[in-house]
Amino acid sequence: MYPSTVISKSEYHEVTPTCSALFLCSQSAVAARKIVTHELVDYIETTIEYRRFRQIASTWIPLPLKHMICSIVLLKTLLVKMTTFAKPFTSSSIVLTGCLSLLLSATSPITSSQDADAIRTLVEAYPEYLIPSKKQNILLWKDGTEMVFDDGTAKADYEDALNRASLKDQMSTPYSCRWCDGPPALNDSPGRMRNEAFFRKMYGDNPERVKANLVPVEWESGKVVWFTKINGAAEALKRVRHEINGLPNDIQCYVCRPLGTFSWRNIAGTGRISMHRFGAAIDFRLPEAVYRYWRWDVQFPEDVPTYPESILRDLKLSQIVSAFEEHGFIWGGKWHHYDTMHFEYRPELTGYSNHDSTLVKHTHHLPEISLSEYSFK
Ligand SMILES: [Zn+2]
Repeated sequence: MYPSTVISKSEYHEVTPTCSALFLCSQSAVAARKIVTHELVDYIETTIEYRRFRQIASTWIPLPLKHMICSIVLLKTLLVKMTTFAKPFTSSSIVLTGCLSLLLSATSPITSSQDADAIRTLVEAYPEYLIPSKKQNILLWKDGTEMVFDDGTAKADYEDALNRASLKDQMSTPYSCRWCDGPPALNDSPGRMRNEAFFRKMYGDNPERVKANLVPVEWESGKVVWFTKINGAAEALKRVRHEINGLPNDIQCYVCRPLGTFSWRNIAGTGRISMHRFGAAIDFRLPEAVYRYWRWDVQFPEDVPTYPESILRDLKLSQIVSAFEEHGFIWGGKWHHYDTMHFEYRPELTGYSNHDSTLVKHTHHLPEISLSEYSFK
């Protein structure tokens, strides 16, 4: 009766929430007025217009325009084809459906090519757990779990974004492995936004599960630190140690006093999880001049800290940081809210990860999104 289905129903829902919005509107109309059938929706999926939209959606056209095009195409198709089906339409229901879909289109997220790159980067960074998904806006786990990348939720401010970061938020601030030649801009703290559900699922949502994956890493003669073996993190730390062993003794001394790795706690003064909770972060008692934590330098937690630029003139420290970054660790000293003692395993941000003990440089890079573009609503 209909053209052979080129696009499946599941794809229909994945293409864009705008389409789903139209579908939902249609479904509401079905319930209320019995005006739109599943057959009609199925028909829309197979139309040339719809497939054209899929092509358009992968081009450079700005997101809001894509949403608008999607709505218009689908609405047009609906209006043109409705007479084909022997169902009683009313003008008010059509207008209602159209208006709702257009309204929803203005706020519905769609997977942009940048988002797709960021999802690929995550998959490459955590190959033990993640696999590519054909669905847009979805991060797929090997066990079949699907996580939404862009939750479409507008955050009130930076603190709000920290507290309920989506996967997209997590990937929104690029981390540079270059040594900084100036202080980070306000709230430029790549890696501080973490999607809690992602890390809980990755490393364990209770201390027992996390502990079961901790393995010893020899740090210096006689000193051992315990680190998670998940996704090759402990192996990466061993490689860092190996690199540091090749540095002069006075530089090695910067990290000769590890302060701790695993600790089932939140970040100090917040309700947010710390990467120490997962045994995926390590702190060091650095030399006094560069041992800085923003909370030590402000009177109240809401105060904006002044970044200690002097730490950036320490080129010995830069070599330590570089050794960590090359193996998938980020450094808290590159955050506007600085934490110079802190290193955490975040290969999705550094562009390097460990696959089967082989260092791999990701082929996909995060889009360069400046904080000014990362707008809060
Ligand atoms: Zn720490």
